Amino acid sequence: MADRWPLLGQRRPLVGYLCAIVTLDLVAIILLSASTAFHWRDVLTFAALMACGAVCIEATRRLGMPAGVSRDLLSAWWLPVALLLPPLYALFAPIVLQILLQVRVRATVLYRRVFSSAAIGIAGCTASLMFHWFVPDPMVLARGSGGPLMFAVAAAALFSLLNTGLIAIAAHTADPDMSWREVLWDRESVLLDVVELCLGILVAIACGLNPALLLFTLPPVVLLQRSLLHAQLQAAARTDAKTGLLNAAAWQREADTEIVRARRTGESLALLIIDIDHFKRVNDAHGHLVGDQVLVGVASTLRSQLRDYDVVGRFGGEEFVVLLPGADIDEARRVAERLRVHISHMAVPVDDTLVKVTVSTGVALLSIHGDDLIDLLAAADLALYRAKELGRDRVCIPAVQQSPPSQAPSPQSPLPPQVPPLQSLPSQAPSPQSVPPQGLPPQSVPPQAPPSQSTPSRAIPGDAASQDPESGPGSDIDPDPDPDPDPDPDPDPTS
Ligand code: GH3
Ligand code: MG
Ligand code: MG
Repeated sequence: MADRWPLLGQRRPLVGYLCAIVTLDLVAIILLSASTAFHWRDVLTFAALMACGAVCIEATRRLGMPAGVSRDLLSAWWLPVALLLPPLYALFAPIVLQILLQVRVRATVLYRRVFSSAAIGIAGCTASLMFHWFVPDPMVLARGSGGPLMFAVAAAALFSLLNTGLIAIAAHTADPDMSWREVLWDRESVLLDVVELCLGILVAIACGLNPALLLFTLPPVVLLQRSLLHAQLQAAARTDAKTGLLNAAAWQREADTEIVRARRTGESLALLIIDIDHFKRVNDAHGHLVGDQVLVGVASTLRSQLRDYDVVGRFGGEEFVVLLPGADIDEARRVAERLRVHISHMAVPVDDTLVKVTVSTGVALLSIHGDDLIDLLAAADLALYRAKELGRDRVCIPAVQQSPPSQAPSPQSPLPPQVPPLQSLPSQAPSPQSVPPQGLPPQSVPPQAPPSQSTPSRAIPGDAASQDPESGPGSDIDPDPDPDPDPDPDPDPTS
């Protein structure tokens, strides 16, 4: 049933809200139809504005439309409808253009189109009622006098606010975890609202002067609409459609840029690979759609827990990557641990149960575990492998091997003098028998743990493996390319 009627597959409160808005729209159409006088001039003006909207849609059709919520400049046409014509026409305008979008641009689930028409219609009709209340003869707008112009700006702002509010309520009802700030406030979309407001008023003045002037307004609006769509398509090409995070290619580009910058400025930087544990079981037990919801949940937890300038991406399947510019080993561990805890507390409701997942994380630090993206990814990946080996639901950092203190670092040493990884090494190197596992079960590593407890062991590949009773294949993860073949772990790295 929900396959044929996707609306029925939505959350109950969302279905109720969408139905209420559409009903309100229909009631307004019926009431206003009965009270609106018919004038051919109104119908022709309406047809001219809708024809401009249709040309705009046709002219940008070949560009396509990014999936999900996208923005257009069609308000440039339905705002003049709201200002110049009786309020009834504001209810019809979005219906005409949404049908055209559905048929000519992209067939999306029908209930979204119906809801969009109703939401825009209600917003436009309210703005129109308000404007006509204060300016009974809307054609005075064309004279450009201050009073009507001010009311036109107020009506356009009201239209924008109502439209944004109605859509935001739907978005928040669909996903209550989404913050109001996220659904309401976006600098880019506020800027677009202002552009739409200006365009709408200019088109209304031109159309009020002489509907033939619409021919002069059409080309610039089409051009603006094309460049807006182009920018949105470019953004969509960088984004993973399922989670909204950067896709792998875009993440790698941004990560590369950050790494080059960090190397130039000598700043620290950490990379995390986060993999959902036993994700296949989630799919097997609850189906792929629930699996997808879990992916979305993990992605939004990552976004909400990280700073704006951290670079977060979906690397593939159930694997995520995070770049933390400026983070040293302690901060990287703290952040990875915080993400792990938050994700383990996250729950996706399915029928009457809650689906929970845990994640394993591999961490690598610039200049300590690698000097470029490939090395860092390889180191973090091996650490992740180790975390899986040690039982999952934990954070692992590869061991770092350093040259014996008596020796000057070799030219190939991965520990350049300006990077102080030694500060985070234990003051006493553990004896080979007590080398702790490189994986640090989070329970045993409180975030405030002193460095001597929370830092990776100085393990030599193979040696540590042979001493560490817990170690599996992951113990040979030390990515340290230090060519020093010293077979004995140095007993005292502090001097
Ligand atoms: P491990 O703890 O070792 O990581 O086990 P795992 O089950 O998470 O790992 P495995 O690699 O065996 O399985 C990954 C699963 O992720 C298999 C695949 O079906 C699923 N998967 C990959 N991409 C998607 C997706 O986009 N949506 C859903 N629902 N599942 C996906
Ligand atoms: Mg997995
Ligand atoms: Mg995986």
